Parts: sequence; structure tokens; C-alpha cells
Amino acid sequence: IQIKHVHKTFKQRKGGTFTAIDDVSLTIHKGEFVSLLGPSGCGKSTVLNMVAGLEGYDEGIIEVNGSKVTGPGSDRVVVFQEHALFPWLTVLDNVAFGLKQKGVSKKERYEKAMEQIKTVHLSKFADRYPHELSGGMKQRAAIARALAMDPEILLMDEPFAALDEQTRLILHKELEEIWMRTGKTILFITHNIREAVILSDRVVVMSTRPGTIKKEFAVKAARP
Ligand code: ADP
Ligand code: ADP
Repeated sequence: IQIKHVHKTFKQRKGGTFTAIDDVSLTIHKGEFVSLLGPSGCGKSTVLNMVAGLEGYDEGIIEVNGSKVTGPGSDRVVVFQEHALFPWLTVLDNVAFGLKQKGVSKKERYEKAMEQIKTVHLSKFADRYPHELSGGMKQRAAIARALAMDPEILLMDEPFAALDEQTRLILHKELEEIWMRTGKTILFITHNIREAVILSDRVVVMSTRPGTIKKEFAVKAARP
């Protein structure tokens, strides 16, 4: 992912514009796990949404594998903080949903979906509806749904922020295992420095003045 000198403004309701992102440049290599850390409102979600192709930008360029991002693509899938699952679909149908859109046959999409549901330890809950799941289980299902699309890049927007501490720690472990096993490139947003340091190879710190990168540091983790 290459973000080069990107600027982003939003129109204000009162008129005029508001600069959300001011000259942000960032390169994320294939297979890297990078956290974007910073206080609420500094522009983390905006950066992630621009990489996802869900938001445009005013200046600069964002490239993925050398191609300009012009909209959403199945190479980049987002896991949001909440409300990620369709409440009227079971876990299985939620996870299979994107594959259906892609035109994958019923047999194959259910096989692939069950495989991912298994990796997030939800096999027993495949026929349950989201409201029957705990918060942690819902986020596991959302991760399974993203993985089922087999994207190169996982974009995670504070996926564990709404969870209690204990559940969050379990999900950190699970996400780390997924990352090690799949080698996916992960851009992970958080305002929690501990979470950023525990999970990632590299932490990029943003500040609100407006939306710029303040500093970045590598995390020397004891990885195998
Ligand atoms: P963070 O994810 O770091 O909390 P955001 O990227 O959500 O920050 O927001 C950055 C700034 O841009 C904030 O001041 C926010 O209010 C503003 N912003 C975000 N989305 C919009 C929008 N769609 N319209 C107007 N302002 C927005
Ligand atoms: P949370 O505090 O994360 O909201 P819950 O109190 O909802 O968690 O759930 C605690 C545990 O109970 C979960 O980890 C799960 O194993 C189990 N559980 C929650 N909802 C259901 C359900 N509808 N059916 C079976 N087990 C459930």
C-alpha cells in the first residue's frame, strides 16, 4: 500500500471546507502488520476508508500493488468496530455473503465459509443469528467473513474497541495466529497504544493538527 502526499477535506455543513488529512505519506509492505494509532478524530478511519476505496481524496495518490485506488476492491476488505454483520442472516450466511456476490457456487461458498468459521472457533454457532452471539463472537464472525473473501489486505477499524479486556486479549492472540498463518497485510486502527504495540510490526502515530503523521516506530516483537 502506498499513500503519497494525500490531502483530504470534508465540506462543512455551515459552508467552507475542513482539512481532515494533511499531507499523509505511508508505505505498507506486503505481509506487514501496521497499526495506525492516534486520538479520536485525528483521521485514522479516513485513511483506512481511503485505502478501502470507500472515500475519495483531494490530492496525492493511493496505490495498491502499483495500481491507483479508485474504489472498493475484493483485494481489500474492511472489518469494522461494530454493526458489521447482517442481523437477518445466520453466521454462515453472513460469512458466505461476499462469496455469493462474487458468484461462487452454493456448495463452494458454504465450504469456504465453514472453513473460515472454523478458524475463528465458531463452528458450533454457524446457524446462529448475530443477536445470539457475544460481542467477541460477533467480531470473530466479522473476521471470518473478511477472510472468506481471501483479500490480500485486511483493513481493521478498531475491531476490538467495543470488547471487554479479557475478550480483547483472546482476540489479539487469534488475530496474531491468523496473520502468521495467512501472511496477510494488515492495517489496524486503534487509539490504544498497548494494543498497537502488542499486535503490530510497526506503529504509525497520527495527530490532529489536522490529520498528519507525527512519528512511527518499529516494534521489536519476539516472533518466531
Ligand atoms: P479517527 O478515526 O481518528 O477518530 P476520523 O477519520 O473518523 O478520525 O475523522 C477525522 C476528522 O474528519 C474528524 O474531525 C471527523 O469529524 C471528520 N470527518 C470524518 N468523516 C467525515 C465526514 N464524512 N464528513 C465530515 N467530516 C468528517
Ligand atoms: P459478552 O460479555 O462478550 O457480551 P456474553 O455474556 O454475551 O458475552 O456471552 C458469554 C459467553 O456465553 C460467550 O462467550 C458464549 O460462549 C456464550 N453465549 C453467548 N450468547 C450465546 C448464545 N446465544 N448461545 C449460546 N452461547 C452463548
